[in-house]
This record gives sequence, C-alpha cells and structure tokens, in this order.
Amino acid sequence: MKITIITLFPELFKGVFDFGPIRIAKNKGLVSIDFLDLKDFAKTPKDVDDYPYGGGPGMVIKPEPVKKSILRAGKGYKILTTPKGKKFNQKMANALAQKDHLIIFCGRYKGIDERVRELFDLEVSIGDYVLSGGEIPAMVIVDAVVRLLEGATSDINSVLTDSFQGFILSEPQYTRPGVFEGKHVPSVLLSGNHKEIARYKRKMALKETLLRRPDLLLKAELMEEDYKLLIEILKEARNEQHNERD
Ligand code: SAM
Repeated sequence: MKITIITLFPELFKGVFDFGPIRIAKNKGLVSIDFLDLKDFAKTPKDVDDYPYGGGPGMVIKPEPVKKSILRAGKGYKILTTPKGKKFNQKMANALAQKDHLIIFCGRYKGIDERVRELFDLEVSIGDYVLSGGEIPAMVIVDAVVRLLEGATSDINSVLTDSFQGFILSEPQYTRPGVFEGKHVPSVLLSGNHKEIARYKRKMALKETLLRRPDLLLKAELMEEDYKLLIEILKEARNEQHNERD
C-alpha cells in the first residue's frame, strides 16, 4: 500500500510514524508513506491561504495549491479530513485497508475553498470536535489502517479481535500477577479448558458491548449461541441488581 499525505507541516509526522506497527509495516515494505508539502504548490510559500470572500474571521486554503497537489499525488483514493465528513470508524478503516493508494489531505485554518471539495472521493471526520489541522486526523486514519495490514503486527488475529471488529467490544484482559491487591483473575482463564475459555471470553465481550455500547449489538452478526449468552448475562445482571436491593 502507498499513502501520500498532503500537509503544510510534514515535520509534525516525525516520530509518530516511526514506532509500532507503522514502523514494522514500512520496514517490511507493506506500506510506503510519502509527504507533499502544500507550500510547494503555491506561487510562494505564503500564498497558500487567503481571506474569505464575504468577510469573517480566519483564512481559507486557496483552490490552486489544493488542486495542484492532488494532481501531483496521482491516482489514489483521495480523502479530505474535515469535521463535516463521514465519521471515521473501524468499518471505514477495514475498507481503506483494501486500497492500493490513499491520498490524505490535511486542512488548516477555516479549511479549503469549496470549489475543490469535488476532487475528493471521501470526506472524513474523526469525531464531533474541531482540531487545528488535519494532521492528527491523518495520523489516526493511517494508524488504524496500517495496523490492519497482514504482517504489521506480530499476530493479525489479535488485531481482528479488537473492539469494533464485528461490532463487538473486546473482552476485559488480564495478565500476571494472578492476584493484584486482592483481586483475582477469573478462574476459568486459568483452567486450561479451551472450550470454556472461548465461551467465557465471548460472553464477556458481549457483556462489555451490552453494558457500554448496546447500540453496536444491533449491527453485530450474532450466532445462536450469542443470544443464549446474552440471556445469561441479562439474568445475571438482574440477579445482581435484586441482591443489591435486598
Ligand atoms: N472551519 C472548519 C469547520 O468549522 O468545519 C474547521 C476547520 S479546522 C480549524 C482546520 C482543519 O482541521 C480542517 O480543515 C480539517 O482538515 C482538520 N480537522 C479539524 N477537526 C477535524 C475533525 N474532527 N476531523 C477531521 N479533520 C478535522
């Protein structure tokens, strides 16, 4: 996969892309990431933005450098980072991980001139808040996408069982010591019974989802066994509530 990032501040990405799965993926040749500096596509480095027509605060990125940089980036799938875009999620990350070439444009100031929005295939927001620039959203998108590439992590199965894959949150995790400040690791995890462990983990993942993000369960693909587990979870939760009341 190739990723091209168009930004006024390529230096912001130093470090972030040199650790973890992104570093591994780059070293293994699974991904190459290059940068286009938006200033190089303006008449002068200071000619990237201008005052908005009609007045008002802030500056707007001019259409010419946007168009020129997008044309230079080539034929890839073009993403504009904007708080007005489609909300980024795991499903989108999975879809983007299938592309050969992603081109991510990082806005700044008030954003880009409306007349060049049509150059993009997708507008992406990383959440309902406003950041100063598209660089952090681009980092978020690249991280979420690259860790899905086979070989970027030591175990792709770990990635595929993370929260939101299949719209189910991941189950709680435990590591050594077995007892921490009087709190025990659930005994089934120490039992060595793989069937029971798998059932327990699925049940806990469903429980996390039901308690924290019940909306996801409407989208999740559930098996017959999952419905049984959900009934068990509800019964247990109701019993716990009764016991607390008594
Ligand atoms: N005036 C814009 C608005 O109200 O929609 C906000 C511009 S923001 C200060 C500057 C740039 O940061 C945007 O062009 C975009 O590239 C990026 N940005 C800020 N928040 C973002 C978000 N939640 N998701 C994606 N990109 C964002």
